[in-house]
Amino acid sequence: MPIGAYVFTHEQLLELLAGSDDDWLFTEAANIATGQFSSEVYLRGIVEFSNYCRNNCHYCGLRAANRQVERYRLTPEQILKAVDLIAAMGMGTVVLQSGDDFTYRADTIAAIIREIKSRHDMAITLSLGDRQLDELTLWREAGADRYLLKMETFDRTLFAACRPDADFDERMARLKHLQQLGYQTGSGVITDLPGMTDDILARDLLTLTSMELDMLACGPFVAHAQTPFADRPNGDVQRSHRVSALLRLMNPDANIPATSSLDALRPGARIEALGRGCNVVMPSFTPQEVYASYNIYPGKNAAAGGIQDRLATLSQQLFHQGLVPSQARGDARRNPYVSRN
Ligand code: SF4
Repeated sequence: MPIGAYVFTHEQLLELLAGSDDDWLFTEAANIATGQFSSEVYLRGIVEFSNYCRNNCHYCGLRAANRQVERYRLTPEQILKAVDLIAAMGMGTVVLQSGDDFTYRADTIAAIIREIKSRHDMAITLSLGDRQLDELTLWREAGADRYLLKMETFDRTLFAACRPDADFDERMARLKHLQQLGYQTGSGVITDLPGMTDDILARDLLTLTSMELDMLACGPFVAHAQTPFADRPNGDVQRSHRVSALLRLMNPDANIPATSSLDALRPGARIEALGRGCNVVMPSFTPQEVYASYNIYPGKNAAAGGIQDRLATLSQQLFHQGLVPSQARGDARRNPYVSRN
């Protein structure tokens, strides 16, 4: 367990999730983040290169059954051009993300990874869904540094109710494989998913923490009109802030992003989360002509202006909060399968 990590019982988590001591929770999370990261917020440029997906998660606007999405796929050249822009802005990490779109062959992705590594000194995070072990191995060997594979909940029953095409056990095993391959590995939850209770959320927090992951993500549920969950109530911003703050207390040295779904529910809530224990933001460098089509939830990629304008606004907001935008790679070193010597 990392030095200074809080250890909570299930009952204590239930009380804090219910808001029993928000002032203490948020202040303590901010203090720990400041101690760990010196008020720096890591900027990771993300390229959402395909919004095709073979799956039908009930909460997600990119689900295969949604015929109203304007689908797009970027070519390797378009992806590399976006990465070049991220590197030109000085950022130390690129995140390559897509739906579960298996038309990109493993060797195509490997070639993109190698090309990025030959052009730039930067970390590569992949978020490409549940791919096979041989593909994950190939990409790691090609130079990929990190992999993000979100569960959205670690409750088997709720998972099945929300993600009908995904296999709970396979995905859990994949997370372990990713760690064993030496990836800095991330996962996370959606707070207030339809059917989620504080009891489930408390167990999710304990499970996430027990896995010693490098990246821990949480964001609130946002109802999308073209999904089976269209009529379900949106999540609660304050509860999502509590969850990310608790993750910080329980995992002081993990990278914890502030997600854009917070802003979709309440403008400013993402920046607020950075003052409550989060330490990462991921500005989108997806080309402007397809930017708005990566519509996982309403409000995603909806900010006005081009990337330069959005980055300038973000930097101003961070400085206003007393936070410092950082271009550093910002590696986490928590993987229990990798020697830390
Ligand atoms: S959450 Fe991911 S896997 Fe599920 S439908 Fe959306 S893009 Fe596909």
